[in-house]
Amino acid sequence: MIQEVKLDKVKVLAQYLPAEAAPLISRWIDYFVCEFKVSRNRNSKFGDYRHPYGGKGHRISVNYDLNPYAFLVTTVHEFAHLHTWNEHKHRVKPHGSEWKANFKQMMQPFFEKDIFPPDVKKAIVSYLDNPAASSCSDLNLYRSLRSYDAPKAAVITVEKLSAGAVFKIKDGRVFRLEERLRKRYRCVEVSSKRVYLFSPVAEVELVED
Ligand SMILES: [Zn+2]
Repeated sequence: MIQEVKLDKVKVLAQYLPAEAAPLISRWIDYFVCEFKVSRNRNSKFGDYRHPYGGKGHRISVNYDLNPYAFLVTTVHEFAHLHTWNEHKHRVKPHGSEWKANFKQMMQPFFEKDIFPPDVKKAIVSYLDNPAASSCSDLNLYRSLRSYDAPKAAVITVEKLSAGAVFKIKDGRVFRLEERLRKRYRCVEVSSKRVYLFSPVAEVELVED
């Protein structure tokens, strides 16, 4: 049973970070006794580490909407905070030389597995060698990480569509645009054949022209 739960953790992690990295991150979660959460909060932070406090243990959260490489780098970044906390508590700066040395050391296993594309690896290495670098201040690193984001679905307003275009709305329902009325667009839901009126500026996702 315990084995099963463990396998599941690896499987869940592999949905967010490169699959080859999942077993080691899973072992870190156990080894450091850390509550690890994939955060769905829409905030500007990539990740967050909280040290043990008020009866709670180590807590790490990483934002769900990062691409696998950015998710992994952020995860290692936060585990380096945890490790640095275990070693030094409040005695050192959050992104000081101790954290940096730990981050560098904890990235090594992933370099050895050759998980990163060459440009990302290069950016991480130069980030690690830059003594001034901290979490998000290295634009080069985050730029190269971001270049691996999946392309965002093309959002378009209804008035830009031509008659016959098929589009999807946020809840996943699919419509075909029929014609322009005076102020609205008459559309038919493909599955139910029901007629709906759309505002010209409704944002939809084009499925086919
Ligand atoms: Zn940090």
